[in-house]
Amino acid sequence: MADCVEANAANIALAGEAIRDGRLVAFPTETVYGLGADATDDKAVARIFEAKGRPRFNPLIVHVASLQVAEKHAVFTDEARKLAAGFWPGGLTLVLPRRPETPLSLLVSAGLDTVALRVPAHEIAQALLRAAERPVAAPSANRSGRVSPTRAEHVMSELGAAETLAMVLDGGPCRLGLESTVIGFPQGIPTLLRPGAVAREAIEKVLGHRLAEADAGSGEEGRASPGQLESHYAPGSPLRLNARDVGADEVLLAFGPDAPKAKTSMNLSTSGDLTEAAANLFAMLRALDAEARGRVIAVMPIPDEGLGEAINDRLKRAAAPRG
Ligand code: AMP
Ligand code: MG
Repeated sequence: MADCVEANAANIALAGEAIRDGRLVAFPTETVYGLGADATDDKAVARIFEAKGRPRFNPLIVHVASLQVAEKHAVFTDEARKLAAGFWPGGLTLVLPRRPETPLSLLVSAGLDTVALRVPAHEIAQALLRAAERPVAAPSANRSGRVSPTRAEHVMSELGAAETLAMVLDGGPCRLGLESTVIGFPQGIPTLLRPGAVAREAIEKVLGHRLAEADAGSGEEGRASPGQLESHYAPGSPLRLNARDVGADEVLLAFGPDAPKAKTSMNLSTSGDLTEAAANLFAMLRALDAEARGRVIAVMPIPDEGLGEAINDRLKRAAAPRG
């Protein structure tokens, strides 16, 4: 069982260390309690999905200490900067293009070219970011499908038994108790992706104009509706799933110790570890896609258990014909 500890300086220092070690820490923010991991470590991020029991990979919010840090990881437009100046630190999340040089895990973006960033106002969240010395990916600290936790006790009852959870920092009840508002910029247009803690009117006042609606947009991201943002990473090359062999003209995405020989192949996990496979999924798909140049990517079967369910969900979407 993870410890639920008082969020004093000594415990926050330990929590920072745990994050740097690739472990999970639950912590309070002004919105809800977050389940945090080193956002630059694919494996640590995979543990978030594992602990939550999420049946699919969706992009996670990355928490950073300041706008200055955020600008190192994403490309801001003038309007994005205006919103950051108006609402950070606070309950507003901005989805922006990743900088090519960012060390952020591709898994926090679920393979997309964008990343969701937020500067939390909560003192304990800020102290944890300083102690961790890196961006912290943190979705709400509840099991998948359950409501967001607003007290440390909620986190303990749902995730206390997770092996990878180092501790829960108890900071009392969350002030807002509502998830952050998420704003994206499809085609550069400020768009409400998820209503939340910061009211639309307040955002529109700062912008000086209305926000676009997520489902009224014409772009791929713009069509997504809040909470089910289905725009997802899709490789350009066709995928062949459940491949037990590999054709001469195919590249291989392997899994496990018994991979067939292929001229070009990458293995999600030679030991058959699903957390490792999740951590490698998007980076390897991208790398193979670049190598394949239109050839088929044969993908070995992945067991449909634990994180395998989310991996298979992503692979199925990536293999689906688009249009
Ligand atoms: P959570 O981290 O569980 O509070 O949820 C994060 C919210 O932000 C979800 O609604 C995500 O779909 C949305 N989100 C995060 N990253 C992105 C992204 N790169 N593109 C679009 N939506 C995102
Ligand atoms: Mg949530």
